[in-house]
Amino acid sequence: DTVLYLVPTPIGNLEDITLRAIRILGEVGTVLCEDTRTSGRLLQHLNLKKPLLSYHLHNEHQQVARLLERLEKGETMALVSDAGTPGISDPGFLLVRECLARGLGVECLPGPTAFVPALLKSGFGAERFTFEGFLPVKKGRQTRLKELATETRTMIFYESPHRIVKTLEQLAEVLGPGRQASVSRELTKLFEETINGSLPELARNFAARPSIKGEIVLVVQGNTDAPVKKGRYEEDED
Ligand code: SAM
Repeated sequence: DTVLYLVPTPIGNLEDITLRAIRILGEVGTVLCEDTRTSGRLLQHLNLKKPLLSYHLHNEHQQVARLLERLEKGETMALVSDAGTPGISDPGFLLVRECLARGLGVECLPGPTAFVPALLKSGFGAERFTFEGFLPVKKGRQTRLKELATETRTMIFYESPHRIVKTLEQLAEVLGPGRQASVSRELTKLFEETINGSLPELARNFAARPSIKGEIVLVVQGNTDAPVKKGRYEEDED
């Protein structure tokens, strides 16, 4: 029996919530959320009244034991994040792991997550890609960037608006100035934009703006110096 549901919520456009997500949010006993105000507004918009419990990066370790106790008694809960799919660059992993270790049923609903539209709007190969989430801010950053220099798959990063220029510049240094990339900003929102170009072009574009607002996904083409297999959409015949 499922006791924990991971429920994706819109990344901007409120229409992007599934019928099943609405039903599950209505059925569970408690909604675990990163920010009770953000999720409270969403539930209000859906005409749902539910007890909310805060579950975020800074309290998840201390919350888990208490939550497991309640879930083991058969209480049902939905975990939501501020936006998108919980567990994707958001808390969730710890609770899922501990539920599974105790044989408690976990269900994950499919739904909005920012990297999928960004990947597809980039126009780069999507048959193989690597989700890198947020790059390390300080320690380990250069090492990670260097590791990625030989990566042949399309790479996806989450980035904050105040670091995007620096990240584009550093990637250009490590991957080379010819490497193509795509920046998607404010996906599904009113001022959604996706711009493609080489890493230095994109860096200049954003550096020239008086301010950079909103949320950003950066997609970088893989290293194409490696030979590309023909017929890569088809299964191998041997
Ligand atoms: N759980 C979320 C998901 O499934 O995509 C990601 C949460 S993470 C803390 C927040 C990051 O996701 C932002 O910094 C940005 O990189 C990306 N993001 C979320 N919403 C976005 C949007 N509407 N447009 C572009 N990027 C978005």
